[in-house]
Amino acid sequence: MYRTHNNGSLRLKDVGSNVMLCGWVQKSRDLGGMTFIDLRDRYGITQLAFNESINEPLCAEARKINREWIIQISGVVKERTSKNLKINTGEIEIEVQSLTVLNESKTPPFTIEDDTDGGEELRMKYRFLDLRRNPLKDNLMLRSKMSIETRTYFHDCNFLEIETPYLIKSTPEGARDFVVPSRMNKQQFYALPQSPQTFKQLLMVSGYDKYFQIVKCFRDEDLRADRQPEFTQIDCEMAFVSQQDVLDTFEGLIKHLFNKILGVTFNERFPVMSYNQAINDYGSDKPDIRFKMKINYLDDVAKGKGFAIFDNAQTIAAINVSGCADYSRKKLDELTNWVKRPQIGAKGLVYVKCNEDGSFKSSVDKFFNQEDLSNWSEKCNSKPGDLILLLSGDKSTVQKQLNELRLLMGSRLGLRDPKVFKPLWVVDFPLLEKDEETGSYHAMHHPFTSPKNEDLDLLTTNPLKVRANAYDLAINGVEVGGGSIRIHNRPVQEKMFDLLGFTKEEARAQFGFLLDAFEYGAPPHGGIAFGFDRLCSLFGGKDNIRDFIAFPKNNQGRDVMIDAPSELDASQTKELGIDLID
Ligand code: ASP
Repeated sequence: MYRTHNNGSLRLKDVGSNVMLCGWVQKSRDLGGMTFIDLRDRYGITQLAFNESINEPLCAEARKINREWIIQISGVVKERTSKNLKINTGEIEIEVQSLTVLNESKTPPFTIEDDTDGGEELRMKYRFLDLRRNPLKDNLMLRSKMSIETRTYFHDCNFLEIETPYLIKSTPEGARDFVVPSRMNKQQFYALPQSPQTFKQLLMVSGYDKYFQIVKCFRDEDLRADRQPEFTQIDCEMAFVSQQDVLDTFEGLIKHLFNKILGVTFNERFPVMSYNQAINDYGSDKPDIRFKMKINYLDDVAKGKGFAIFDNAQTIAAINVSGCADYSRKKLDELTNWVKRPQIGAKGLVYVKCNEDGSFKSSVDKFFNQEDLSNWSEKCNSKPGDLILLLSGDKSTVQKQLNELRLLMGSRLGLRDPKVFKPLWVVDFPLLEKDEETGSYHAMHHPFTSPKNEDLDLLTTNPLKVRANAYDLAINGVEVGGGSIRIHNRPVQEKMFDLLGFTKEEARAQFGFLLDAFEYGAPPHGGIAFGFDRLCSLFGGKDNIRDFIAFPKNNQGRDVMIDAPSELDASQTKELGIDLID
């Protein structure tokens, strides 16, 4: 037997018991006649006391022990004289009677403390050590709890958890596929699934009307803080359901998770907003509705006054920032530079200060008089003391830029409290978007998403106007996930492939199995998937999903610990029938 207890479990009630403990040495303190060691495992820390006057050789042994060594001890639980109420075991310590070193450790390349001195890259290389630190451990514990609660919820709702394959044929969901060469079928490749989309639809045809899976998905995309080449989704599909049924099921899941994990209760239904309204009011399809600061359109009151930049713009729009009329020249210049950065790409920023005395001061006073500015402020619902920030240009660009500016100002004004959660369903997405360069259509969600019945005729006459039965859930401006009611009959699916530019033969070659399945009694069905890593980071109050994944990739898609990706042995490539070119 290695241990009778873990390092987080002993309390005052255990005083007098003989115990055995194992763990890593967090630190040791040598106080002359006494040596103390903090012994750590994933459950907590227990203080070990070695008393020179009771057992001198043992105390000498203890002094040789360094950080991160693994030891096993036996001893008696004692009440501490100076208690540490910050930790659960802080009222007791172990008077050690015997000590075994189970394994020594090199000095770790960074300190295994909550605030470590190790840089990101170094910690990624020694991820197995970084994972010993509390912040990461807490994240992984949160993640584990979230997946258990997700499973509980779905099992209680009568869903079946069914695995789908990882070695598949490519499913187009907008990203590049990762591919895997087949040794047995030379010159042929599997693709790793971007999601189990087609399989879950086939499961509906097979009659498994409530499916879910917590599943890995793979997308070969450029990486950002909130993206990983392999990530996890809570994936679900249901048959004989309307859009509302799917939303209700996932709203139920989110409420269950908030309740069980964070103790947060939502009594109301989550608000629902159309895609068009979200773009119009917030410039984003995942608005952060913890605060208002909506976009106002000023075209009718800002054009025709000789200010060429406005006169030539498709749109002039503004946000009203409460209480910021006292922004200094320096702060306004800094904001202007911020919107001019390539990431935002605005040409400039116009401001209006709504002074307390009812007058206005703007950066375009040469072109606009007090009455003009008063009209603007009326449109923006401004009050004395507010600051109006205007951008102009192409409409959708201005909307995107104002979204960024709004989020920045919301953060600055403290309106984005990470402890406040505001979920929002965004519905009625367009079915298609147009690639301006090639002129071809792309599915906005994916090619299996059904158009709204009432928009079916537009498929032929005005495809870009067709709305989809597609929906997303955003929480605090983070897209948690989305889904759609699917096409379940062959002619509509064929029409969709046709619009997306697939020839009959291409559609047949890529999706013959799905089109065939639709001819054998496919029920109406729909589903959704939530990004599990992102959901965990949201619940953990952090932006970076990497901290919630045990072994993530870095920004270059590398695992620097195992050094992947890496070159293959010549014998391996030969066996796969692959010739590498430079
Ligand atoms: N497969 C979709 C995705 O990964 C989700 C869905 O439509 O169910 O985004």
